[in-house]
Formats: sequence, C-alpha cells, structure tokens
Amino acid sequence: MFNKILIANRAEIATRVVRTCKRLGITTVAVFSEADADAPHVELADEAYCVGPAAVAESYLNQNRLIEIATTTGCEAVHPGYGLLSENASFIARTHDAGLVFIGPDASCVELMGDKLEARQFAKQSGVPVVPGLEGQVDDDEAALAFANQNGYPVLVKAAAGGGGIGMKIAKKDKQLVKALAECRRRGASAFGSDKLYIERYVEQPRHIEIQVFGDHHGNLVHLFERECSVQRRHQKVIEEAPSVLMSRFPGLRERMTGAALNLARAAEYTNAGTVEFIVDDSGAFYFIEMNTRLQVEHPVTEAITGLDLVEWQLRVAAGEALPIEQSQLHIDGHAIECRLYAENPDKGFLPAPGHIDEYREPTGEGIRMDSGVKANWAVTPYYDPMMAKLISHASTRDQSISKMLTALDKLRIGGITHNAPMHTKILQSEAFIGGDFDTGWLEAWYPGD
Ligand code: ADP
Ligand code: ADP
Ligand code: MG
Repeated sequence: MFNKILIANRAEIATRVVRTCKRLGITTVAVFSEADADAPHVELADEAYCVGPAAVAESYLNQNRLIEIATTTGCEAVHPGYGLLSENASFIARTHDAGLVFIGPDASCVELMGDKLEARQFAKQSGVPVVPGLEGQVDDDEAALAFANQNGYPVLVKAAAGGGGIGMKIAKKDKQLVKALAECRRRGASAFGSDKLYIERYVEQPRHIEIQVFGDHHGNLVHLFERECSVQRRHQKVIEEAPSVLMSRFPGLRERMTGAALNLARAAEYTNAGTVEFIVDDSGAFYFIEMNTRLQVEHPVTEAITGLDLVEWQLRVAAGEALPIEQSQLHIDGHAIECRLYAENPDKGFLPAPGHIDEYREPTGEGIRMDSGVKANWAVTPYYDPMMAKLISHASTRDQSISKMLTALDKLRIGGITHNAPMHTKILQSEAFIGGDFDTGWLEAWYPGD
C-alpha cells in the first residue's frame, strides 16, 4: 500500500478521499487554488500546496504544477477524484512518466471511453445494446437529417467529448436539428476542445440506471449492483438511489444489465472503479450510453448497500493488490438514497447561486452520512461546480430510507445562501418519488419553478 498520495481535486471529493487515507494510515497532500486557501479539504489533509489562481485552467488543471508538487513532496500516487483531470488520458500518461501511480484505470481505457462515439461502437462490438443511432461521426447536416427522417424524431445530438450534461441537445423536427447540430458543435469545441458529434434516437421518458464495476490487475472483475439516477435536471443527477425499484418490475433485468456491464469492462480489460451508464425504456429494454472511467459522485449509495469503501478498493487495486472479495460474497443490504446539495436556485431554472454560508450544521444519526466540501463562514465561489455536499441515508427498506432522509433534511442547516435542500424535501414527499414512478424528464416537468 502507498505511504503518501496527492489528491488532485477539491471540495467534497477531496475530503472524502482524505478520510479513507487517514483510516488506512496514508499521508495526504492536498492542493488548492487561491480562492480555496482555507477550504475544508485543505484543513483536513496532512499537507497542502497552492496550485495557482482561482480559474481551474490555471490551478486544478495545471498538470505541470500538480506533478511537480507530487514528486517534490514524495508522493507515490495521485488520486484524481471526479471531474477535473480524472478522465484525462494525457494526464495519466504524464503521471506515469513522472514515476507516479495514477489511482484509476489505464490511460488506454480512459481514452477509449472518453470518446463517447468510440465507446458506443466498442460497446456494440462487445454485444452490449446501444441506442439506435448513426454509426459514425456526423460530418454534415444532411446525414443527420436523413437519419432523423428515416428513424423518426425526437433525436439527440451529442458531443463525442461531452460530459456533465454539456454538449447535448434534443431535436423534434428538421429545423431544430440543424440548430442543435450547430450548437453542440460550438459547445463541444468551447468546453471540450472537439466539435466531433454523433446522433442517436432520443429515448422518451427513460430511466437512468448505471452499474458499478471494479477490476484489478489479477484478472478479477466484479459488479457492485446498480444505481438509479433518474431524478435529473439539465441531464445531470440530483438524487440517486440503490437498488433501483425497476429491478422488481422487470424480472431478470439486474442480471442482464450487470452481465452487459461486465462484458464491456472485460472486453476493455478494465481495472479500478468504473461505471457503465444505461438508459432503460418503459418496456424494460436497456441501452448503453457511456462509461465513466472514475469514481462517481454517487458512489456512497453503493458503499451503503454493500458495506464497502470504494476509495479503499481504488487504492488497493492501484497498489497492485487483488480485489478483497469475489462476486458471490457481494450482497445488497437495504436501501440507500443520496441527495446532492447544490448552491443553486430550483425556482429560477436551477441556476447556480454562489454566495456566503453564514450557518452550517450537518445532521447526524444512525444510517445518515454527509460528505461535504463546505463549512460555516465560507463562500461558494462562482469558479467551480456549485455542489456543496451530499446527504446519504441508509435503512432496511426504501420507505425507511426516504423517511430517514426527510428527518435529516429537516435537521440540516445551511444559512445565508440559496440552495436546493427544500426541493429535496418536496421531491421525497411527492407521490411520484414515493411510488418510484419517475423518469429522467420528471423533475423538470414536475417542479413548480418560475
Ligand atoms: P456523475 O456521472 O459522477 O454523476 P457528472 O457526469 O455529472 O458526474 O460529472 C462529475 C463531476 O464533474 C460533476 O461535479 C460535474 O459537475 C463535473 N463535470 C463533468 N464534466 C464537466 C464539464 N465538462 N465541465 C464542468 N464540470 C464537469
Ligand atoms: P454525460 O456525459 O453528460 O453524463 P450521458 O450520455 O451520460 O452524458 O447522458 C446524460 C443524460 O442524458 C442521461 O442520464 C439521460 O438522462 C440523458 N440521455 C442520454 N442519452 C439519451 C438518449 N439517447 N435518450 C434519452 N435520454 C438520453
Ligand atoms: Mg453520464
């Protein structure tokens, strides 16, 4: 196992990684931008160094500086968290060149899955169902229009390099499609440096269900069941849970989906933590949408129902150890729910609402966990993602997990800033959520904002 690692990230995921390292006796080196000098992750780590000005391009994405800090402080490995450099194949190669271990999959897997069109083609070859779409890159509008008219609207235009719900547009008719293509090209180029596009059928009212997989360097590969992530806004998750209520509605679905995810991961010779994302339609048919080659924001619900620490598994696998248990030893225990707490205004189109936190109090209790990157008398700045913390509840049944979450949300105090906790309470009390009858478009259609 490692003695010392660098955590190349910020906020809640950085504190999350530090916590496991402390338990395992691993020394941690944190990094921070000038805007994050007194951030909670800086206080919690054993050492911390400034990586540059507030803007991510000049700080958290500054590969030279990160590698320099890791090597000069005697780190053996780098944990990338999620977002930022976690899915950057050239960063992985550079960590290797500097003699560091990257805590994640090989650069080749990250590269393959990072291009969502290539990943789609690879999944198809591996026998994993994909959403019907044009097989190749969309070079001109004509090919896209021909596909849509032959297969019918609505269609979804996607930037091949996209992520975080960015670079994706639905089109319901020809005129919209031409506009969507231009917009996704532009967004792809500005946000991800690539205007490569693809097009697929827009599956109406789907559920987003994903499978956590884990592989080691000894040929072992397991799945850690599913997560249901259909409560979304702007194609981004707001509430996640495990297991999914859909599994009891469609017998055999879990076996089919976990089997498909393992086939894909095996074909890719995947190691470390990964998530295979699918959408499921109302007939129980499922389609691959992408693979995230990193730890996922919503990994705590999987930890709750399996009793495992996925960051510990990441560290062990990266250090060359074999997975500690095999598939037959993995079981689902109860039900877990995660609410993402964002500094944003659900009443104003979920717009980010940075500001100063005057009061901050976390709920505690059996079956309640809070992963946080903020504190009282501290500001959520506009430079970074507005997610402040995640609240996770775990109980024997889904109903109990919901009521535990409602009690925790009631005890939570985040003052002085606009946030989405009151919305979580409304969702958890809604008939649709309680009945498990929602899809990826439900929240935006149902929530009574302006
Ligand atoms: P997950 O699939 O793990 O729920 P997301 O795909 O929403 O997570 O993204 C993971 C994290 O990285 C989130 O905090 C998200 O905001 C951030 N992220 C991902 N891609 C981008 C991007 N292109 N620009 C800004 N933030 C991003
Ligand atoms: P990202 O890389 O931004 O996470 P994904 O491909 O995972 O992008 O898609 C994000 C979300 O967009 C999904 O969770 C789902 O709600 C929606 N989505 C993606 N592809 C489709 C599709 N073909 N039909 C309907 N919804 C889709
Ligand atoms: Mg996704």
